[in-house]
Order: sequence, then C-alpha cells, then structure tokens
Amino acid sequence: SASGETVIRTDRITKRFGGLVAVDDVDIEVREGEIVGLIGPNGAGKSTLFNCVTGSLSPSEGSVYYRGRDVTDWPQHKIAREGLVRMFQHTRVYSEMTILDNMLVSADEDTGLERVFRPPSSAARERAKELLQYLGLWGLRDLHAGRMSFGQQKLLEFGMALMADPDVLLMDEPAGGINPSMLEQLMGYIRDANTESSVTIFLIEHNMDFVMEVSDRIYALAHGEKIADGTPEEIQNDDSVLDAYLGR
Ligand code: ADP
Ligand code: MG
Repeated sequence: SASGETVIRTDRITKRFGGLVAVDDVDIEVREGEIVGLIGPNGAGKSTLFNCVTGSLSPSEGSVYYRGRDVTDWPQHKIAREGLVRMFQHTRVYSEMTILDNMLVSADEDTGLERVFRPPSSAARERAKELLQYLGLWGLRDLHAGRMSFGQQKLLEFGMALMADPDVLLMDEPAGGINPSMLEQLMGYIRDANTESSVTIFLIEHNMDFVMEVSDRIYALAHGEKIADGTPEEIQNDDSVLDAYLGR
C-alpha cells in the first residue's frame, strides 16, 4: 500500500551510551503508506533507534529526516507536532483517570515543558467517543484506566495515539503480553489505521507471527547493526537473521 514518498529516513545513525554502541551506523527508510517492522533480539537497539527517530534521544552520529527535512536533535514534542506519533513499550495510560479522560488528555498540547490542559473541545469529545466505540471501550469510558486489563490498556493507548491524528505511528511492541484474541483485534485495528486512515506504521515486535503477517517490509537489527531488510518472506529465510535469533 506504499505510495513511494519517503517519510522517515535515517542516515548512518549511531547511538553510544558510554562505551556501549547501542545503534551502529544504521540506515532505514519508511515510505508513505507502508507498515514496516523492526525486529531483533533483546538489546539489539530497536527502542534506541525509535528514540533517535522521535527525538527523545539525540544520536551520537548521523541524521534523521522526516519528509525530507532534517529533524535530528529536534525535541520530541516538535517532531510530534509534525504528525510523528510514538507509542511506548510499556503502557503509559494515566491509571487514576477514567478511560474517556485519558483520551481527552491526549488531545492536549505537550509543549515539551508542560502539558497544556484545556477544556476538551466538542470535536475532541466527538472523536474520543467515535474511537472508543470503534475500539469496543465506550461502555467502559468512566472506569479508571488502572482497572482495565493489560490488553485493554494497550488498546486505550492505541486510541490515545489516534487522538493525535498521526501521520506516522511508531509502535514499540504493541503485541507484547496480550492474549491471542486481542492480538487479532489489534492487528485489525493497525491494518484499518493504515488502509482507511492512511497512517504509515513503523513497529517493533517480538511476536514473529504478528510482525510477519502485518508488515510490508522488515528491518532486522542485532548488536546495534542492521543485519537484514526485506519482505517478511525474505527475512524469514535470511541466514543472518536466523543466526542472530539462534545465537549461532
Ligand atoms: P531493544 O529495544 O532492541 O531491546 P534497546 O534499544 O532498549 O534494545 O537497548 C540497546 C542497548 O542499549 C542495550 O544494551 C541497553 O542496555 C542499552 N541502553 C538502552 N538505553 C540505555 C540508556 N538510556 N543508557 C544506557 N544504556 C542503554
Ligand atoms: Mg525495546
């Protein structure tokens, strides 16, 4: 479903933490309309690469381009304002707030210094209702988010990300720890966002069945280095990927 225009590009990104090279000279490219997967063993540098792309970390070397613009070292909130929205590996819902209020808060503006709370507009309320209905959470809207199941919290987080009307959505292990039926649901929602709302998706995932089924293209990292890229089929048959996972 890709239209071709490059949305995200990294040019030789390296990120060091002291003596550790977490991301080592990595080039990746995500094109408009794609669902791109990012895989690799634990500690491969996947989340760190995401952090460099979204501006929550500054790369030690290399550049990040968003729609052709050099956004290296832009603060996260500024990149987010351009439509690049990110979901975290560990859920970040406000557990003491209701589900509906979580949705409405995510419509507020994050200036990077503070979150500017304002009374939600009727458009935001309408959108929150529409999304919660779509996600099957509207009936639970007055429940504190902390009382939801883990899988429901992941769905809520997805809804919160959609409240920002993303152009590109980065998801860090969206399927992590959720049960098989919710996994199917989530895959459907991700596909819908991609096909119906034209959201370009870049996702880290450990669940191989999930990432192979949902992705158009996949990058594989190991020890910070890009070891392979290709279609799911190519990646599944790539020797260096097999080696990385089997520790050969
Ligand atoms: P992945 O997401 O692929 O599991 P990460 O990007 O989280 O891997 O981590 C890559 C490597 O960088 C790991 O060795 C990790 O311990 C290290 N690392 C990640 N973040 C930091 C940090 N803020 N400070 C120091 N080391 C870090
Ligand atoms: Mg990670």
